Amino acid sequence: MTTDCIFCKIIQKEIPAKIMYEDDKTLAFEDLDPKAPTHVLIIPKEHIATLNDLEPKHNELVGHMTQVAKQIAKERGIDETGYRIVTNCNADAGQAVFHIHMHLLGGRQLHWPPG
Ligand code: 5GP
Ligand code: ZN
Repeated sequence: MTTDCIFCKIIQKEIPAKIMYEDDKTLAFEDLDPKAPTHVLIIPKEHIATLNDLEPKHNELVGHMTQVAKQIAKERGIDETGYRIVTNCNADAGQAVFHIHMHLLGGRQLHWPPG
């Protein structure tokens, strides 16, 4: 928990979010500014700033986040049409919130390569 982190505040329910899944290790909620018909953020409850801060002890956690993303994609009916999981790291990738998150994007044709 980091007091000035917006995602830690969402975990603590100090600021509202449209939460669709929660367990003891993760939280999933709608992105405030969706870039696709499905745009969900999956975050760990542990405050980890960037991908660079991941350690081997987090492997199970990251695997679990992927399973949560997969399950939400299935519930949204985009598992067969397709979806994308993105984690931005630092400035060149456009990371804006320094609490790691997986973007789950789908429900439309996604472009490649990304901009
Ligand atoms: P990043 O650029 O760090 O990869 O992505 C941050 C994402 O968090 C953006 O897509 C942005 O719309 C979303 N976001 C930022 N602040 C909030 C918030 O307070 N609530 C929610 N639900 N999403 C947020
Ligand atoms: Zn945080």
